[in-house]
Amino acid sequence: MMDRTSVLIIYTGGTIGMIKDEKTGTLAPFNFNGIYEQIPVLRRFHYHLDFHCFEPPLDSSDITTADWAELAAIIQKNYESYDGFVILHGSDTMAYTASALSFMLENLNKPVILTGSQLPLGEIRTDGRENFITAIEIAAAREDDTPLVPEVCIYFENRLLRGNRTVKYNAENFNAFVSPNYPALAEVGISIKYNRPSILNPNFKKLKIHRHLNRNVGVLKMFPGITPGFIEGVLFKSGLKAIVLETFGAGNALSGKWFLDLIAKAVSQDIILVNVSQCMTGTVEQEKYTTGIGLAKAGVVSGLDITTEAALTKLMYLMDKYTDPTVVKQLMQTSLRGEITV
Ligand code: ASP
Repeated sequence: MMDRTSVLIIYTGGTIGMIKDEKTGTLAPFNFNGIYEQIPVLRRFHYHLDFHCFEPPLDSSDITTADWAELAAIIQKNYESYDGFVILHGSDTMAYTASALSFMLENLNKPVILTGSQLPLGEIRTDGRENFITAIEIAAAREDDTPLVPEVCIYFENRLLRGNRTVKYNAENFNAFVSPNYPALAEVGISIKYNRPSILNPNFKKLKIHRHLNRNVGVLKMFPGITPGFIEGVLFKSGLKAIVLETFGAGNALSGKWFLDLIAKAVSQDIILVNVSQCMTGTVEQEKYTTGIGLAKAGVVSGLDITTEAALTKLMYLMDKYTDPTVVKQLMQTSLRGEITV
């Protein structure tokens, strides 16, 4: 294709690509053909930028697994033609999309940087402008022709985070994302400081995409006062084949016999249960308290320090790929894309 650095920008929707109609005050999708008028400084990169826009743009709350498959397919189709990819996406479900894509894009050796903003690009105080410009710079960054960040990441408010380690934790601040159990891959100030030891190494293998995900997966959040009927409904009446069990603290749940019997019954029916803590920081240690030991004995798999977003999307990916629950359970405890600390 072209001999200058090229980045494909995929706009899925979300606040960043909205512009306020001065007369009505409503937000309408921005036309990316006019991007150089909106952000003239982009010309100074001398990169070749192309745009692909979802039609219609989606509020990220409406994103589906079919949209993730479309994103994976767009990346695969354009993989050889571009040095990197920027996905503009609403922040609300960005951590889910970033996690899903990390599993769907096997042998990824180029940057896929998701970003968005809390204020639309056209607003005077927008955070979108900086997020957008820096995400492009990171997607284009190479050294000796090798991309600096060959990973699916989220760039937001001066920090580059591994996508499958992120959680949206603030609905108001520009600093909307955290990576509670893994360091930032880059900190952005006057310069972009890459945290090289924490970034995955490229494996130079051919990209392979997994477009299909198994949606018979869900989340069951523990809370004091939860009823047997509610648990039974989720475990046995929902048709789910794998469930993220959001537990307390270091991976604890109820110790009552009725509860542990239901859990053991689900496991005996080959329903995969993965223990993920409701706490953002730290890891599940099922053997620490009696209330955790009960789960381990009943056959619940520890999710270690994985986020709910990554656990859920990893299960969607693994459950489509493997039919043997033992393999899925074993892989849930294996780091496939740097999503857990083992
Ligand atoms: N509701 C919007 C979305 O997630 C918020 C945002 O763009 O950040 O699409």
